[in-house]
Amino acid sequence: MQEQNKSPSQQRKHKRAENLLWRKQRRPNGKRHDKPYSYGFAKGQCGKRKQYEIKTTIKATDYCVLRFDGVEMTKSFKVPREKRQMHYNKNFVQLMKNTALELFEFLPSSVFLYQFSDEISLLIDTKQIENNYDNRIEKLLSILSSKASVIFNRLHGEQKDFCFDGRVILLPQDKIADYFECRQSFAIIKFLEELRSRNLVGEQRNLRKYGEIVEALKNCRPSIDYFAFPEDVRNGVVVYKNPLIQKGMVANAPEFLADRQYIKDKINLLQ
Ligand SMILES: [Mg+2]
Repeated sequence: MQEQNKSPSQQRKHKRAENLLWRKQRRPNGKRHDKPYSYGFAKGQCGKRKQYEIKTTIKATDYCVLRFDGVEMTKSFKVPREKRQMHYNKNFVQLMKNTALELFEFLPSSVFLYQFSDEISLLIDTKQIENNYDNRIEKLLSILSSKASVIFNRLHGEQKDFCFDGRVILLPQDKIADYFECRQSFAIIKFLEELRSRNLVGEQRNLRKYGEIVEALKNCRPSIDYFAFPEDVRNGVVVYKNPLIQKGMVANAPEFLADRQYIKDKINLLQ
């Protein structure tokens, strides 16, 4: 409403509101701010509201795994049922492997990474992030889940945008190897279950145990040799730091439970 169109009482009300605002902007020493949006004003006002910001810091002595999980990725990259002879999506396996390596190399404090399907678990050296992110885990988690999404979409190069959710797992030192063994157990059984649902029929679709599914796949027609699948498809992929060149090295994961020393050897922290 234009000033001249206001009634005298409205104009008085408006003036009173302006005065009130002006008084609120006085500094404690009685001087007025020349402009309410100065840097000092903004900093002063924001400083008071800092208490409402969520800050989660981790201790430099904690062992921390950041886990990233693709949103709606397994569904989107699933091989259609009619392509029965294709048991897995080769391109997606390679895409995730490349994403994992690039993500590992992006963060200097990366120690060890395990990737399978659309899931990435990254063990970080918390002593190193103390200097970079004040050990604020929400900053690191948001940066890395965005980075994983950006890398994946760039490498994928298609129109649809995919993203990763992120979570934090703090572990005692003696539980680190257990954590990776457990994630791999999920990975292995999930792939076997996928093979079971695509190839087995009748009662055999109810099989739950690893050995039973492997055996049933071998006996089905055409026969499927589970152990003939590449190791990265069956067991997933690891990335670890090569101490000589300080770069990430990718390798197909062995079965962690069959080689209990493998993870410890790759993670210098545990030795
Ligand atoms: Mg997922």
